[in-house]
Amino acid sequence: MPMLAVVNALGDGVRLAKSGLGRRLSFVFGALISTIVGAVILINVQTQLQLVHERQELRLFHLLDMATEVSLPYLIEGRAAELDIIFEELRGQPDVLDLFIVDPDGVTVVESDEEDGLDFLKTSDDILTRAASETGEIQRRTFERVQQIAKPLLIGNVNYGTLRLDFDPEGFQADSEKVWTTNLLAGILFVLVGLFTSNIVSARLVRPLNRLTRATERAAGGDLDQTISVSTNDEIESLATSFNTMLIALRSSIQEIHEVAYKDKLTGVPNRAWLSHQLEQIAIEASSRQEAFSVLFLDLDDFKSVNDNHGHHVGDMLLVLFADRLRKCVLDTGLVLLNVGSVRSGSNYRFESDAVVARLGGDEFTIVVPTSLCHVLVERIIDIMQEPLRVEGLTLRTTTSIGVANFPDHAPSCELLLKHADVAMYQAKRAGRNTFALYDGDQHRLAIERQELAADIRDAIDMDQFVIFLQPQFYISDGMVSGAEALVRWNHPVRGILGPDMFLPLAAGAGLLPDIGRLVMRKTLAAAQRILPSVDVPLTFAMNLSVDELADEKFVEDLLWRIDAANLPAGTIELEITENTAMSDGSAITQRLERLRLVGTRLAIDDFGVGYSNLGRLKGLAFDTLKLDRSLLQDVGEDEEAEDLMATILAMAQVMKADVVAEGIETETQLSVLGKYPCKYFQGYLGARPMPVDHFVVWLDQQLAQAPQDKVC
Ligand code: C2E
Ligand code: MG
Ligand code: MG
Repeated sequence: MPMLAVVNALGDGVRLAKSGLGRRLSFVFGALISTIVGAVILINVQTQLQLVHERQELRLFHLLDMATEVSLPYLIEGRAAELDIIFEELRGQPDVLDLFIVDPDGVTVVESDEEDGLDFLKTSDDILTRAASETGEIQRRTFERVQQIAKPLLIGNVNYGTLRLDFDPEGFQADSEKVWTTNLLAGILFVLVGLFTSNIVSARLVRPLNRLTRATERAAGGDLDQTISVSTNDEIESLATSFNTMLIALRSSIQEIHEVAYKDKLTGVPNRAWLSHQLEQIAIEASSRQEAFSVLFLDLDDFKSVNDNHGHHVGDMLLVLFADRLRKCVLDTGLVLLNVGSVRSGSNYRFESDAVVARLGGDEFTIVVPTSLCHVLVERIIDIMQEPLRVEGLTLRTTTSIGVANFPDHAPSCELLLKHADVAMYQAKRAGRNTFALYDGDQHRLAIERQELAADIRDAIDMDQFVIFLQPQFYISDGMVSGAEALVRWNHPVRGILGPDMFLPLAAGAGLLPDIGRLVMRKTLAAAQRILPSVDVPLTFAMNLSVDELADEKFVEDLLWRIDAANLPAGTIELEITENTAMSDGSAITQRLERLRLVGTRLAIDDFGVGYSNLGRLKGLAFDTLKLDRSLLQDVGEDEEAEDLMATILAMAQVMKADVVAEGIETETQLSVLGKYPCKYFQGYLGARPMPVDHFVVWLDQQLAQAPQDKVC
């Protein structure tokens, strides 16, 4: 959906910004804090080191000045011994390593280090004191960390000697190291605190964005029923506000899209797409919660004729009223009707009280109901449909056929469930409409088998899979063979030999009867041509013709031509038409039958006694044989009434001057009763069952070789 794509894209954007921003903020804050702390620490260290250095210089010059001040009076007065004592005291200072005076002649006059006393009154070779004495200026140098300083002791132009002081700066160096250590530790501490704070600050800044991201992710996942609250009083807050506005707009446009996509425009009930989706959810939920529900598949009976007779506008109005009635019936049953936009979805569907009415298309509707209320609802709908509907001044009486399939008993998936409810609806239609049928798996399997067979028939014709079996007919008087009836069989490559009941109705539905009839016709004529020359008795070969075949002019022409071309003795071919075919309207059929008789065929009325015969019409039809249906003869010999009925029909046939074939004779009793009446032939298992042509040829040879008294009857 494009809307969701927009939300997705927004989510991605915010997520990116979030991760990028969070990282960047932490980095920037961290770097800033580290730089500031570093700079402050550096300045601080520099200042403190400067101070230490100044203090060191101050101390050095303080010692130098002090030594100068105390030594000058003693030097002037030449009191070296007392000066020595004072120097000793000065030497006691921890930072004074050495202290001595060299007179202008280069002789050491005062030496602080009296322990060795070696240099006292000796000529000094100290370069530093010499340089100070020569230049008259203070000289200094650093030797192995020791600060050495020499100062000429001048009063006016008079040089009293040079004072040299060796100063140990160790105390100040320790101070410098302390400055570094404390500042470094403080720096690390500040940087750590800074980084920690920067993380917290950036997390705080990013948090509203995170919330926004999560909201967009939820929205992209389809959750549009949310609002995000951010009160940062900045751009993020306005972004959140825009986001909420967008969600409201999305909600309403999705609602509109739903209405357009899932509501049937004509009736206002949900359409097929919505139903399929809901049904899938409901089925998933039902499976996991082990619940059951039913699906009703409804189809208006004869809706097409409403459209044809009154126009599509009236048809549409009828559908609207029908949908209203369905809704009303559901509500009257105490169920809650779910619609497009209903808050409840598959996951919280209430199996005991929720129902759905949907239009699949055309005049097909579906209702989803709790199985326990299904029967009540079906009866209510059938009942309410008895009341006529008023559409634009017209009073329309229409009924509905309903198929019911239960989940999970009749189908494990919603797709199959709908299909099976549809199959059941067709069962209801076949049962006479205005009724309902519960899905029957066995019937469905049969129907599928029939469908598969129907699909195979055309190929079977092309592949010459239809064969004829011949069932002998006999003279009742002496049991001699009088002929045979050709009965079609399908030599199915997988299912074996199939009887005509299995495929003739399907072939009729597919308009293929004449094609099968042609094969039967060819094979029967071929069998007659093959058998007749080798026998010395006349035989009749009967074949069955359906009304479809007779109605097909080309078929009849073909038949006429082939019978003529076969050049068989007149009366060899007998065409059997059922009583009902004989009664069917149409002078064309009568004319065709007459033309067929003209080429020497006989005409038999088959299955006589089970159809509706109009004796007047029958009399007008030139036929030669009446074949009494098996059902009329079944009880003969055991039931007097059956015998009376048979006797009456035989008397009537006699009046009509027709030969009679008693069909389906299975017992000697039936045959012996028949022998008392004017019935010329019989056919039935007692005589022989239908058999392939090759078997028939062998069987016939054996029969004709036997004397009449040895025959079966
Ligand atoms: P039908 O023409 O009345 O054929 C007689 C049916 O009765 C045959 O069934 C036969 O097998 C059966 N039958 C014969 N004797 C007995 C008996 O003693 N007991 C019992 N229970 N049944 C017996 P089949 O072959 O199943 O044919 C059924 C029907 O199919 C035929 O009834 C006929 O109406 C139709 N049919 C068969 N072949 C053709 C054909 O080539 N074309 C057309 N249009 N219909 C055919
Ligand atoms: Mg027949
Ligand atoms: Mg029959």
